Amino acid sequence: MKIGFIGLGNMGAPMALNLLKAGHELKVFDLNGRAVQLLVDAGAKGAASPRALASDVELVITMLPAAAHVRGVLTGSEGVFSGIGDGVTIVDSSTIDPASVREFAALATEHKCVLVDAPVSGGTGGASAGTLTFMVGGSEEAYARVKPVLSTMGRNIVHCGDTGTGQVAKICNNLVLGITMAGVAEAMALGDALGIDAKVLGGIMNTSTGRSWSSDTYNPFPGVIDTAPSSRGYTGGFGTDLMLKDLGLATEAAKSAKQPVFMGALAQQLYQAMSSRGDGKLDFSAVIRLYQQGEIA
Ligand code: NAD
Repeated sequence: MKIGFIGLGNMGAPMALNLLKAGHELKVFDLNGRAVQLLVDAGAKGAASPRALASDVELVITMLPAAAHVRGVLTGSEGVFSGIGDGVTIVDSSTIDPASVREFAALATEHKCVLVDAPVSGGTGGASAGTLTFMVGGSEEAYARVKPVLSTMGRNIVHCGDTGTGQVAKICNNLVLGITMAGVAEAMALGDALGIDAKVLGGIMNTSTGRSWSSDTYNPFPGVIDTAPSSRGYTGGFGTDLMLKDLGLATEAAKSAKQPVFMGALAQQLYQAMSSRGDGKLDFSAVIRLYQQGEIA
């Protein structure tokens, strides 16, 4: 298939490489020339603008930081909508708010194309390994069209419902993640302060009712899980600022639905405190530092 890919960052670059590996013909665009060069070296063609990229492809994929970037890339004077052919599908895999997705999908319809939301879970490791979960929002027909392509980058391709529901799933999942990480951090720091060995406590938790992904895969206490970011100085994981963005999306969406998010709002403030003191680039599990003696902001 002829595919255009925009946004070659921590997630987008390995996803695009997997499309090349699967034999797709790829055109790429990013503001970062080095990111483009990496993909060109691997066999992709660089495009001069989103408009040029969209002009002769069958599918466009965007993987950008936030809704403002997606808006610019789609609707700008050199944007995707200004160059795209009739009937082409756009897959936006960025994590953004459901209301923006619905607006972009309506604009896509005006330009005689189709936009589906397909945010992902699985992190940079999942992006490289091609094992991401895609949460797809759109019609049955659009889902059936994009599923084979998404399957070359992911293992679970789930149809969540109409446009925007992929983002709803993603936001709700990360709401739980942000809360459970803060909860595990609180308990691990307390156990440590009360004198139990962190590895023993982590082991008990992971075979007991306190178990979660935050405790058994990403435990925030250094040395409990060797492959977790906490065991390598909180580097190379899911940045605090990205978690903060996702909790912001959850609290904003909750406001529009007149729905309380007590725990999410508190967790948001914890990650905000981390970001404010300059730890926004650290993995979000570094939230445990807020609980450790002498580390309180
Ligand atoms: P990133 O910041 O590493 O990459 C974003 C890329 O977009 C960069 O290469 C940047 O140059 C490019 N870009 C920005 N504005 C652009 C524009 N106007 N035109 C062209 N390119 C532009 O971000 P990431 O970690 O790859 O995350 C991308 C999205 O995926 C975010 O919405 C994030 O929340 C989501 N996500 C990230 C992870 C993770 O673990 N990193 C996991 C799941 C979902």
